[in-house]
Amino acid sequence: MNTLDDRYTKPKELLETYIDLARFGEDTGVLEPAQVDRLYESSYADPERAQRALLLGRELREAIHDVFRAIITKRPVPPGALAQLNGYAQTAAGHMQLVEVKNGFEWRFDDRQDFDSVLWPIARSAADLLASHHLAFARACSSKACEWFFLDTSKNHHRRWCDMTRCGNRAKVQRFYARQKRQR
Ligand SMILES: [Zn+2]
Repeated sequence: MNTLDDRYTKPKELLETYIDLARFGEDTGVLEPAQVDRLYESSYADPERAQRALLLGRELREAIHDVFRAIITKRPVPPGALAQLNGYAQTAAGHMQLVEVKNGFEWRFDDRQDFDSVLWPIARSAADLLASHHLAFARACSSKACEWFFLDTSKNHHRRWCDMTRCGNRAKVQRFYARQKRQR
């Protein structure tokens, strides 16, 4: 949701290429580095299909964003965005299979070399969050200069910033200067 930075002021697209999307998957831990490396290589061999997957990725992001923004700002969820997210989640479900592991089974995605395989865990993860009791902890960053959303997993659920180093410190510095000004 945060990969369109400053979306209401000066939108900056952070998913410029398919590789950006694949890296996002790697950074967030939904894809394995080896899988991303292979997707990276194939995206050079077939740039058109990679580009199509990128456009779908942005569409999915917007759907997730619109749904969560409505929830966070306590407004009705746009049915179109929810329908879109449902479509992606259903596709993702069609690619899930049970695999036997050491102490039981786990869900894994098949066909991990499909360009769209980046989208499945993202759609799945958004859908899982919507259907979980963690949904109440989806928040918007308190910084006025920031439009990022985050999930408040802190113990007391009093977290205010998307990221302490990105926004928390910025706010702290601003308060510090404001206080200094008043004291002068
Ligand atoms: Zn922030």
